[in-house]
Amino acid sequence: MKEDTIAAIATAPGQGGIGIVRISGPDAEKILDGIFRPAGGTKTMESHRLVYGRILDGEEVLDECMAVIMRAPKSYTREDVAEIQSHGGTQTLNRVLDLCLRRGARMAEAGEFTRRAFLNGRIDLSRAEAVMSLIAARGEQERRAAVRQMAGGTADFIRKASDELYVLQAGLAACMDYPEEISDEEGAGQLRDGLEKLILELQEAVDERSVRLIHEGMHVTLFGIPNAGKSSLLNALTGQEKAIVTEIPGTTRDTVEGEMISDGIRVILTDTAGMRQTEDPIERIGVERSERARQQADIALLVLDGSREPGEEEIAWLKQLQETDAVIINKSDLPQKTTEDTVHAVRPEVRCMTVSALDSGSLQPVRDFFRKSAEIGDRLAITQPRHLEAVKRAIASLREAKKTLDSWTPDMASTDLQAAQQALSEITGDRADEKLLDAVFSNFCVGK
Ligand code: GDP
Repeated sequence: MKEDTIAAIATAPGQGGIGIVRISGPDAEKILDGIFRPAGGTKTMESHRLVYGRILDGEEVLDECMAVIMRAPKSYTREDVAEIQSHGGTQTLNRVLDLCLRRGARMAEAGEFTRRAFLNGRIDLSRAEAVMSLIAARGEQERRAAVRQMAGGTADFIRKASDELYVLQAGLAACMDYPEEISDEEGAGQLRDGLEKLILELQEAVDERSVRLIHEGMHVTLFGIPNAGKSSLLNALTGQEKAIVTEIPGTTRDTVEGEMISDGIRVILTDTAGMRQTEDPIERIGVERSERARQQADIALLVLDGSREPGEEEIAWLKQLQETDAVIINKSDLPQKTTEDTVHAVRPEVRCMTVSALDSGSLQPVRDFFRKSAEIGDRLAITQPRHLEAVKRAIASLREAKKTLDSWTPDMASTDLQAAQQALSEITGDRADEKLLDAVFSNFCVGK
């Protein structure tokens, strides 16, 4: 337990109906008593009960407000926690916070309330990170993943794997301590089976694509010849005027990004420069960038102008599309010279959507396609990049252990198993050093 008392404004800056100042630590109740006068003149406030009253700075009434004391250990931090709900607004909240600081509280650091919840054993590190993800969530998928993680989805999975690993470690120790009783082959064989099972279990939880989709969103790049309507499509899909639309081919000289939230999924759309060969040096840089954007994207959408017949270049691109890519035949409002049949004659299996960038309703199949492409499992145990990295490290160490068992060098295998255990424990924070905690909590906001 930390000895000092911390305070911070817990609500977002700016004007709001209500703003909250939160205090945690041994002096929380004393500080609240000193600045808050309940309306009925109640002497001792009941724990976990919201009370109406006034905030006072000496004789000056700062605001009418509600306040609550949550005595340890039944609080967010497991310390005494007081919360003052005054009217929202920077001026009032700053005065209330200032009162707390003058009475001995220290300004909380970023994430310090949650850090105390972790240090006092109320939540593990993966749950603490889930709180941050929930606050920062930009899409519904990210929010849902955070809630699952907060409920212990990650911690339970990791603790189970860690327990299995402890059994293997104990088995290996027994082989090393009683070599006369357990033959090398017998010992190595049993351990190898256990290791294989554990590696498989962990591997099933490693889903890099889903983790990226949750945290970064899905990257989609629009490509095609100049004037096919890529900029118009980007603008229509995102509802923003991001890309410049003109009738002069090659207008989009650089990549332009737009973002849309489609059924809870963040989709980052990149409108690339026209892909034609060009002598203009500036346009050429744009073309190179668009080629790179296309390679890095989760999905490439080839945009064809339905009012023209496809050129040689477009046929060549059509042939290169990956399984996850698709074709958009644009300008369906004009007489059509390219249809889905034209496309399927070249690539029978490719997904094809006929739309008009001028008619937002016609773009629904594109939104449906995004939703389908971004589907991820609802039961993923690992949804954070930091956790994914640690699980991958654990798997690598377990693989090493398996190799050393083949040559029966138990000492080395033991070191590898320890390394795997360390990697797993970093996820739940069972064995986390200050540096790791600083790195995790520095990403939090103040007041959480
Ligand atoms: P980009 O070079 O591929 O980005 O193409 P633009 O989005 O700049 O569009 C080129 C021209 O086609 C502009 O004059 C647009 O207004 C027009 N355009 C784009 N989409 C459509 C469409 O669906 N129907 C029609 N009729 N014109 C379109």
